[in-house]
Amino acid sequence: MKKLLPTSTAGSLPKPSWIAEPEKLWSPWKLEGDELVDGKKDALFLSLHEQQHAGLDIVGDGEQSRQHFVTTFIEHLDGVDFEKRETVRIRDRYDASVPTVVGPVSRQKPVFVEDAKFLRQQTTQPIKWALPGPMTMIDTLYDAHYKSREKLAWEFAKILNQEAKELEAVGVDIIQFDEPAFNVFFDEVNDWGIATLERAIEGLKCETAVHICYGYGIKANTDWKKTLGTDWRQYEKIFPKLQKSNIDIISLECHNSHVPMELLELIRGKKVMVGAIDVASNTIETPEEVADTLRKALQFVDADKLYPCTNCGMTPLSRGVARGKLQALSAGAEIVRRELSAK
Ligand SMILES: [Zn+2]
Repeated sequence: MKKLLPTSTAGSLPKPSWIAEPEKLWSPWKLEGDELVDGKKDALFLSLHEQQHAGLDIVGDGEQSRQHFVTTFIEHLDGVDFEKRETVRIRDRYDASVPTVVGPVSRQKPVFVEDAKFLRQQTTQPIKWALPGPMTMIDTLYDAHYKSREKLAWEFAKILNQEAKELEAVGVDIIQFDEPAFNVFFDEVNDWGIATLERAIEGLKCETAVHICYGYGIKANTDWKKTLGTDWRQYEKIFPKLQKSNIDIISLECHNSHVPMELLELIRGKKVMVGAIDVASNTIETPEEVADTLRKALQFVDADKLYPCTNCGMTPLSRGVARGKLQALSAGAEIVRRELSAK
Protein backbone atom coordinates (compact mmCIF):
# COMPACT_ATOMS: atom_id res chain seq x y z
CA MET A 1 0.00 0.00 0.00
CA LYS A 2 1.49 3.33 -1.06
CA LYS A 3 -0.59 5.73 1.03
CA LEU A 4 0.91 6.21 4.47
CA LEU A 5 -1.15 5.20 7.52
CA PRO A 6 -3.96 3.34 5.73
CA THR A 7 -7.01 3.18 8.00
CA SER A 8 -9.38 0.28 8.66
CA THR A 9 -11.54 -1.23 11.41
CA ALA A 10 -10.89 -4.39 13.43
CA GLY A 11 -13.97 -5.88 11.78
CA SER A 12 -17.51 -5.61 13.03
CA LEU A 13 -19.74 -2.54 12.80
CA PRO A 14 -23.26 -1.94 14.12
CA LYS A 15 -26.09 -3.61 12.24
CA PRO A 16 -29.14 -1.67 11.01
CA SER A 17 -32.12 -2.10 13.36
CA TRP A 18 -34.23 -3.78 10.66
CA ILE A 19 -31.95 -6.83 10.48
CA ALA A 20 -31.06 -7.39 14.16
CA GLU A 21 -31.64 -5.70 17.48
CA PRO A 22 -29.07 -2.89 17.67
CA GLU A 23 -26.51 -2.15 20.41
CA LYS A 24 -26.42 -5.78 21.39
CA LEU A 25 -23.79 -8.45 20.84
CA TRP A 26 -24.81 -11.60 18.99
CA SER A 27 -28.43 -10.49 18.63
CA PRO A 28 -30.62 -12.82 16.56
CA TRP A 29 -31.79 -12.01 13.04
CA LYS A 30 -35.13 -10.30 12.55
CA LEU A 31 -35.56 -11.65 9.00
CA GLU A 32 -35.81 -15.17 7.58
CA GLY A 33 -35.20 -17.06 4.35
CA ASP A 34 -34.77 -14.99 1.18
CA GLU A 35 -35.51 -11.79 3.07
CA LEU A 36 -32.55 -12.50 5.34
CA VAL A 37 -30.28 -13.26 2.36
CA ASP A 38 -31.22 -9.93 0.75
CA GLY A 39 -31.16 -8.11 4.08
CA LYS A 40 -27.59 -9.22 4.79
CA LYS A 41 -26.47 -7.92 1.39
CA ASP A 42 -28.21 -4.58 1.97
CA ALA A 43 -26.61 -4.30 5.41
CA LEU A 44 -23.17 -5.11 3.98
CA PHE A 45 -23.64 -2.49 1.27
CA LEU A 46 -24.68 0.11 3.85
CA SER A 47 -21.78 -0.73 6.14
CA LEU A 48 -19.33 -0.45 3.25
CA HIS A 49 -20.80 2.93 2.35
CA GLU A 50 -20.35 4.21 5.91
CA GLN A 51 -16.70 3.13 5.91
CA GLN A 52 -16.13 4.82 2.57
CA HIS A 53 -17.99 7.94 3.65
CA ALA A 54 -15.71 8.17 6.69
CA GLY A 55 -12.73 7.90 4.35
CA LEU A 56 -11.34 4.51 5.42
CA ASP A 57 -8.62 3.16 3.14
CA ILE A 58 -9.09 -0.58 3.72
CA VAL A 59 -12.73 -1.63 3.91
CA GLY A 60 -14.63 -4.71 5.04
CA ASP A 61 -18.11 -6.17 5.31
CA GLY A 62 -18.61 -4.80 8.84
CA GLU A 63 -19.37 -8.48 9.63
CA GLN A 64 -22.97 -7.81 8.64
CA SER A 65 -23.63 -11.38 7.56
CA ARG A 66 -22.61 -13.03 10.80
CA GLN A 67 -24.25 -13.17 14.17
CA HIS A 68 -21.13 -14.18 16.10
CA PHE A 69 -17.49 -13.85 15.09
CA VAL A 70 -16.72 -17.48 15.93
CA THR A 71 -19.89 -19.57 15.96
CA THR A 72 -21.26 -18.34 12.62
CA PHE A 73 -18.22 -19.94 10.97
CA ILE A 74 -18.48 -23.13 13.05
CA GLU A 75 -22.21 -23.50 12.23
CA HIS A 76 -21.20 -24.29 8.66
CA LEU A 77 -18.87 -27.15 9.60
CA ASP A 78 -19.53 -30.84 10.05
CA GLY A 79 -18.68 -32.56 13.33
CA VAL A 80 -20.18 -29.95 15.66
CA ASP A 81 -23.59 -30.51 17.24
CA PHE A 82 -25.32 -27.24 18.06
CA GLU A 83 -28.19 -29.02 19.87
CA LYS A 84 -25.83 -30.72 22.28
CA ARG A 85 -24.64 -27.94 24.56
CA GLU A 86 -22.24 -27.84 27.48
CA THR A 87 -21.23 -25.00 29.75
CA VAL A 88 -17.56 -24.12 29.51
CA ARG A 89 -15.39 -21.27 30.72
CA ILE A 90 -14.51 -19.06 27.78
CA ARG A 91 -11.06 -17.45 27.74
CA ASP A 92 -10.81 -18.34 31.41
CA ARG A 93 -13.24 -15.49 32.04
CA TYR A 94 -16.95 -16.25 31.69
CA ASP A 95 -19.18 -19.31 31.46
CA ALA A 96 -21.17 -19.89 28.30
CA SER A 97 -23.31 -22.65 26.87
CA VAL A 98 -21.48 -23.87 23.78
CA PRO A 99 -21.94 -26.53 21.06
CA THR A 100 -20.18 -29.90 21.24
CA VAL A 101 -17.62 -31.42 18.90
CA VAL A 102 -19.07 -34.90 18.33
CA GLY A 103 -16.98 -36.21 15.44
CA PRO A 104 -14.27 -35.30 12.91
CA VAL A 105 -14.63 -31.63 11.90
CA SER A 106 -14.71 -30.70 8.21
CA ARG A 107 -15.90 -27.99 5.83
CA GLN A 108 -18.18 -29.32 3.09
CA LYS A 109 -18.62 -25.98 1.35
CA PRO A 110 -17.35 -22.39 1.53
CA VAL A 111 -18.69 -20.27 4.40
CA PHE A 112 -18.04 -16.59 3.61
CA VAL A 113 -16.79 -16.79 0.04
CA GLU A 114 -20.04 -15.61 -1.61
CA ASP A 115 -20.25 -12.64 0.80
CA ALA A 116 -16.63 -11.73 0.08
CA LYS A 117 -17.28 -11.96 -3.65
CA PHE A 118 -20.23 -9.58 -3.23
CA LEU A 119 -18.06 -7.12 -1.27
CA ARG A 120 -15.34 -7.36 -3.95
CA GLN A 121 -17.88 -6.41 -6.64
CA GLN A 122 -18.82 -3.22 -4.75
CA THR A 123 -15.41 -1.59 -4.47
CA THR A 124 -11.93 -1.35 -5.97
CA GLN A 125 -10.43 -0.46 -2.57
CA PRO A 126 -8.35 -3.04 -0.70
CA ILE A 127 -10.64 -5.33 1.31
CA LYS A 128 -10.00 -7.16 4.56
CA TRP A 129 -11.92 -10.23 5.70
CA ALA A 130 -11.97 -11.64 9.24
CA LEU A 131 -12.06 -15.31 10.24
CA PRO A 132 -11.82 -16.74 13.75
CA GLY A 133 -8.39 -18.11 14.64
CA PRO A 134 -7.91 -21.81 15.54
CA MET A 135 -7.27 -21.23 19.25
CA THR A 136 -10.26 -18.95 19.71
CA MET A 137 -12.43 -21.50 17.87
CA ILE A 138 -11.53 -24.38 20.17
CA ASP A 139 -12.04 -22.15 23.18
CA THR A 140 -15.66 -21.56 22.15
CA LEU A 141 -16.59 -25.28 22.02
CA TYR A 142 -16.91 -28.38 24.16
CA ASP A 143 -14.79 -31.14 22.65
CA ALA A 144 -16.14 -34.67 23.18
CA HIS A 145 -14.29 -36.16 20.20
CA TYR A 146 -10.60 -35.17 19.92
CA LYS A 147 -10.25 -34.50 23.66
CA SER A 148 -7.18 -32.42 22.92
CA ARG A 149 -7.20 -28.65 22.45
CA GLU A 150 -4.11 -28.84 20.29
CA LYS A 151 -5.40 -31.62 18.03
CA LEU A 152 -8.68 -29.81 17.43
CA ALA A 153 -6.82 -26.56 16.71
CA TRP A 154 -4.75 -28.27 13.99
CA GLU A 155 -7.96 -29.61 12.41
CA PHE A 156 -9.52 -26.14 12.42
CA ALA A 157 -6.32 -24.67 10.98
CA LYS A 158 -6.65 -26.97 7.94
CA ILE A 159 -10.28 -25.93 7.49
CA LEU A 160 -9.44 -22.23 7.85
CA ASN A 161 -6.73 -22.65 5.25
CA GLN A 162 -9.29 -24.02 2.74
CA GLU A 163 -11.60 -21.08 3.39
CA ALA A 164 -8.73 -18.53 3.29
CA LYS A 165 -7.50 -19.81 -0.08
CA GLU A 166 -10.97 -19.36 -1.55
CA LEU A 167 -11.29 -15.88 -0.04
CA GLU A 168 -7.97 -14.99 -1.62
CA ALA A 169 -9.17 -16.34 -4.97
CA VAL A 170 -12.20 -14.01 -5.00
CA GLY A 171 -9.97 -10.99 -4.40
CA VAL A 172 -9.65 -10.47 -0.64
CA ASP A 173 -6.46 -8.45 -0.02
CA ILE A 174 -5.99 -9.07 3.70
CA ILE A 175 -7.26 -12.11 5.62
CA GLN A 176 -7.42 -11.49 9.36
CA PHE A 177 -7.65 -14.13 12.06
CA ASP A 178 -9.26 -13.05 15.32
CA GLU A 179 -7.34 -14.54 18.24
CA PRO A 180 -8.41 -12.89 21.51
CA ALA A 181 -7.47 -16.22 23.12
CA PHE A 182 -3.82 -15.33 22.41
CA ASN A 183 -4.10 -12.82 25.25
CA VAL A 184 -4.95 -15.50 27.80
CA PHE A 185 -3.27 -18.85 27.11
CA PHE A 186 0.34 -17.77 26.72
CA ASP A 187 1.98 -21.20 27.06
CA GLU A 188 -0.36 -22.73 24.48
CA VAL A 189 0.18 -19.78 22.14
CA ASN A 190 3.91 -20.41 22.21
CA ASP A 191 3.62 -24.22 22.14
CA TRP A 192 1.17 -24.56 19.24
CA GLY A 193 -1.09 -21.49 18.88
CA ILE A 194 1.14 -19.55 16.51
CA ALA A 195 2.07 -22.77 14.69
CA THR A 196 -1.60 -23.58 14.01
CA LEU A 197 -2.14 -20.01 12.80
CA GLU A 198 0.76 -20.45 10.38
CA ARG A 199 -0.90 -23.65 9.17
CA ALA A 200 -4.08 -21.62 8.51
CA ILE A 201 -2.18 -19.17 6.24
CA GLU A 202 -0.02 -21.79 4.48
CA GLY A 203 0.39 -21.05 0.77
CA LEU A 204 -1.48 -17.72 0.81
CA LYS A 205 -0.13 -14.90 -1.33
CA CYS A 206 -2.44 -12.20 0.01
CA GLU A 207 -1.58 -10.39 3.21
CA THR A 208 -2.46 -11.96 6.55
CA ALA A 209 -3.24 -10.42 9.92
CA VAL A 210 -3.89 -11.58 13.46
CA HIS A 211 -6.14 -9.50 15.71
CA ILE A 212 -5.38 -9.80 19.42
CA CYS A 213 -7.48 -7.60 21.68
CA TYR A 214 -8.93 -7.35 25.16
CA GLY A 215 -12.41 -7.92 23.78
CA TYR A 216 -15.64 -6.08 23.16
CA GLY A 217 -16.83 -3.55 25.71
CA ILE A 218 -19.06 -6.08 27.51
CA LYS A 219 -19.22 -6.49 31.30
CA ALA A 220 -17.27 -9.78 31.46
CA ASN A 221 -14.41 -8.07 29.66
CA THR A 222 -14.43 -4.75 31.49
CA ASP A 223 -14.54 -6.64 34.83
CA TRP A 224 -11.61 -8.78 33.71
CA LYS A 225 -9.64 -5.70 32.66
CA LYS A 226 -10.02 -4.32 36.19
CA THR A 227 -8.07 -7.34 37.48
CA LEU A 228 -5.14 -6.79 35.14
CA GLY A 229 -3.54 -3.94 37.05
CA THR A 230 -2.09 -0.75 35.63
CA ASP A 231 0.43 -2.31 33.28
CA TRP A 232 -1.00 -4.77 30.76
CA ARG A 233 2.00 -6.82 29.68
CA GLN A 234 0.11 -9.81 28.19
CA TYR A 235 1.42 -9.04 24.69
CA GLU A 236 4.98 -9.30 25.95
CA LYS A 237 4.66 -13.06 26.41
CA ILE A 238 3.67 -13.77 22.82
CA PHE A 239 5.29 -10.98 20.76
CA PRO A 240 8.78 -12.52 20.46
CA LYS A 241 7.39 -15.64 18.75
CA LEU A 242 4.85 -13.66 16.70
CA GLN A 243 7.67 -11.42 15.45
CA LYS A 244 9.34 -14.51 13.97
CA SER A 245 6.10 -15.89 12.49
CA ASN A 246 4.92 -15.64 8.88
CA ILE A 247 1.97 -13.39 9.79
CA ASP A 248 2.29 -10.02 8.03
CA ILE A 249 0.18 -7.76 10.23
CA ILE A 250 -0.58 -7.70 13.96
CA SER A 251 -3.76 -5.89 15.05
CA LEU A 252 -3.71 -4.59 18.62
CA GLU A 253 -5.61 -2.66 21.26
CA CYS A 254 -3.74 0.54 22.17
CA HIS A 255 -6.00 3.55 22.87
CA ASN A 256 -7.31 3.97 26.45
CA SER A 257 -5.69 0.67 27.32
CA HIS A 258 -2.94 -0.03 29.82
CA VAL A 259 -0.73 -1.73 27.27
CA PRO A 260 2.71 -0.11 27.52
CA MET A 261 3.37 1.22 24.02
CA GLU A 262 7.04 0.19 24.16
CA LEU A 263 5.96 -3.47 23.90
CA LEU A 264 5.47 -2.75 20.18
CA GLU A 265 9.26 -2.69 19.89
CA LEU A 266 9.11 -6.49 20.32
CA ILE A 267 7.35 -6.85 16.96
CA ARG A 268 9.45 -4.26 15.09
CA GLY A 269 9.47 -5.22 11.40
CA LYS A 270 5.84 -6.37 11.36
CA LYS A 271 3.04 -4.19 10.10
CA VAL A 272 0.90 -3.12 13.05
CA MET A 273 -2.76 -2.23 13.09
CA VAL A 274 -2.73 0.18 16.00
CA GLY A 275 -6.04 0.42 17.85
CA ALA A 276 -6.60 4.16 18.21
CA ILE A 277 -10.34 3.96 18.90
CA ASP A 278 -11.77 2.69 22.22
CA VAL A 279 -14.72 0.38 21.48
CA ALA A 280 -15.72 0.08 25.15
CA SER A 281 -16.79 3.73 25.45
CA ASN A 282 -19.48 5.85 23.84
CA THR A 283 -17.25 8.90 23.96
CA ILE A 284 -16.14 9.77 20.47
CA GLU A 285 -12.40 10.39 20.30
CA THR A 286 -11.23 13.72 18.96
CA PRO A 287 -8.97 13.57 15.88
CA GLU A 288 -6.20 15.00 18.10
CA GLU A 289 -6.57 12.08 20.57
CA VAL A 290 -6.31 9.60 17.69
CA ALA A 291 -3.25 11.45 16.37
CA ASP A 292 -1.67 11.33 19.82
CA THR A 293 -2.02 7.53 20.03
CA LEU A 294 -0.55 7.17 16.55
CA ARG A 295 2.39 9.46 17.38
CA LYS A 296 3.16 7.34 20.45
CA ALA A 297 3.04 4.18 18.34
CA LEU A 298 5.36 5.75 15.76
CA GLN A 299 8.16 5.61 18.32
CA PHE A 300 8.09 1.82 17.98
CA VAL A 301 6.51 1.15 14.57
CA ASP A 302 8.04 2.36 11.30
CA ALA A 303 5.72 4.84 9.57
CA ASP A 304 5.33 2.68 6.46
CA LYS A 305 4.17 -0.21 8.66
CA LEU A 306 1.61 1.62 10.82
CA TYR A 307 -2.07 0.97 10.07
CA PRO A 308 -4.46 3.08 12.20
CA CYS A 309 -7.37 0.93 13.33
CA THR A 310 -9.99 0.41 16.06
CA ASN A 311 -9.22 -1.52 19.27
CA CYS A 312 -11.80 -4.18 18.42
CA GLY A 313 -15.16 -4.54 16.68
CA MET A 314 -17.89 -1.92 17.11
CA THR A 315 -21.05 -4.08 16.86
CA PRO A 316 -22.41 -3.16 20.32
CA LEU A 317 -22.18 0.60 19.73
CA SER A 318 -24.92 2.78 18.29
CA ARG A 319 -24.56 3.58 14.61
CA GLY A 320 -24.12 7.28 15.38
CA VAL A 321 -21.27 6.68 17.82
CA ALA A 322 -19.58 4.20 15.46
CA ARG A 323 -19.87 6.69 12.60
CA GLY A 324 -18.30 9.43 14.73
CA LYS A 325 -15.46 7.12 15.74
CA LEU A 326 -14.73 6.15 12.12
CA GLN A 327 -14.56 9.81 11.16
CA ALA A 328 -12.25 10.57 14.09
CA LEU A 329 -9.98 7.71 13.01
CA SER A 330 -9.72 9.13 9.49
CA ALA A 331 -9.19 12.70 10.63
CA GLY A 332 -6.60 11.69 13.25
CA ALA A 333 -4.64 9.64 10.72
CA GLU A 334 -4.69 12.61 8.32
CA ILE A 335 -3.17 14.90 10.98
CA VAL A 336 -0.23 12.53 11.44
CA ARG A 337 0.11 11.91 7.70
CA ARG A 338 0.58 15.65 7.18
CA GLU A 339 3.15 15.83 9.97
CA LEU A 340 5.08 12.95 8.41
CA SER A 341 5.06 14.47 4.93
CA ALA A 342 6.20 17.83 6.32
CA LYS A 343 9.33 16.17 7.72
ZN1 LIG B 1 -11.22 -7.73 19.16
